[in-house]
Amino acid sequence: FNVPIAINEPVKSYTPGSPEREAVLKEYKKMYNEKVNVPLYINGKHIETGNTRTMSPPHDHQHILGEYHLAEKSHVEEAISTALEARKEWSQMPWEQRAGIFLKAAELIAGPYRDKINAATMLGQSKNIYQAEIDAACELIDFLRYNVQYMSDIYQEQPESTSDAWNRVEYRPIEGFTYAVTPFNFTAIAGNLPSCMAMMGNVVIWKPSNNQIFSAKVIMDVFEEAGVPAGVINVVFGNPGMITDTVMASPDFSGLHYTGSTPVFQDLWKQIGNNITNYKTYPRIVGETGGKDFIVAHKTADAKQVATAISRGAFEFQGQKCSAASRAYIPSNIWEDVKKYVIEDVKSFKMGSPENMDNFITAVINEGSFDKLAKYIDTAKTDKDAEIVVGGNYDKSKGYFIEPTVILTTNPKYTTMVDELFGPVITIYVYDQDKFSETLKLVDETSPYALTGAILSKCRYAIVEATTALQNSAGNFYINDKPTGAVVGQQPFGGARASGTNDKAGSAQNLMRWISPRLIKETF
Ligand code: GLU
Repeated sequence: FNVPIAINEPVKSYTPGSPEREAVLKEYKKMYNEKVNVPLYINGKHIETGNTRTMSPPHDHQHILGEYHLAEKSHVEEAISTALEARKEWSQMPWEQRAGIFLKAAELIAGPYRDKINAATMLGQSKNIYQAEIDAACELIDFLRYNVQYMSDIYQEQPESTSDAWNRVEYRPIEGFTYAVTPFNFTAIAGNLPSCMAMMGNVVIWKPSNNQIFSAKVIMDVFEEAGVPAGVINVVFGNPGMITDTVMASPDFSGLHYTGSTPVFQDLWKQIGNNITNYKTYPRIVGETGGKDFIVAHKTADAKQVATAISRGAFEFQGQKCSAASRAYIPSNIWEDVKKYVIEDVKSFKMGSPENMDNFITAVINEGSFDKLAKYIDTAKTDKDAEIVVGGNYDKSKGYFIEPTVILTTNPKYTTMVDELFGPVITIYVYDQDKFSETLKLVDETSPYALTGAILSKCRYAIVEATTALQNSAGNFYINDKPTGAVVGQQPFGGARASGTNDKAGSAQNLMRWISPRLIKETF
């Protein structure tokens, strides 16, 4: 079968005065005032339960964007039974027909929904337009297009046969229903997790983060318009514990696709383990969780390049990427220069509402995150083994703004060198330039997470040494670059250890977790 060859969606530049910038700002202003009402999506119906919560932009927390409806246990049960009903037809639909739906979804986002999904991401998750465009538009489009291509490759793979024995594999969906639990930090991930399971013929209960509901609604509107049939992807908002308990109590639960925090993923895994004898089939478990992503510079590295890797790797997207650089190991010979350039970079960053497109840094997602970050920063201000190099201020009077902050520590096990903060804060440890090998050992030993990491060096021997010494410390390893910015189709993304099951997002390997193949042998 031929499917369209996937290409990465070109990123629009939104230059000042351009029609695309005007259009997205217009949509932003419209949505700001609209007071949207977000229902549950169950069996193709929009259900207003009447039990609502309000939504506000993180950069403007007193403004109400609208409200969303919370599910009761009975709604989750209804979503499960209608999904199982929908599965009867959906699982039998020829895969090219399913592919057509998701390719159409990609084109709807590329065209008529682009401004909507970008504006919703700017408002609901406080991303500036460039971040929204890369995430909500381009990355989600890329996930849909590339997954269709990978799906087509998977379905064509068949075993050998002989003249008297014909072997064939049916790539069936998993029996039962699957569960997608998605994070606030990427609209693309929120759209990818349920759609890639559905694409492979599965039916899905999707629980978005309560901090991503505004753009989750746009995703559902796209899926509906693209023709995802009723009951195939059902969305429930509300109390995560109740929703998960209800889903996992069902004997038909058969797969978890998760992106979010490490402790929650571990709890979900335990819950599945505790229920294991009740399930009709062993549930698939795929998770991408936390990180404590590193930059290691060698004494030959270019100080300016290292500084750029730090300031972009740590502070883009407010540091709210699983991949964001949050600790750096800098050799003593280049530290003073790196420091000078990082301070220059940070001072040049403007911070404020995404409505002003000059703002590079916007607000962090909510008060809980703000308070946690502020506490770490305050502690670093007084601890003997830490100091603030630049930044360190914060203000939540209008929005949850944390200044990009660089902490310097003399203790490689200092709390902000090991704890995941998930915000615009990076901690730097300066090592003796002649202790590179010892430093690599230290990085590996202090990596319970293993998501992303980077080595910067002009010496190829040092690059080889780091690539080997850190082979288990990062699932995505970058040479002479920042450890962020994975592009679908180019850098499949994920890590092991406490960072997840490493079933790379945007890869055939991930899609294969959502099928249950049947081999049929026929003899003549
Ligand atoms: N794929 C993103 C990147 O490489 C990070 C995704 C995440 O935060 O989970 O920057």
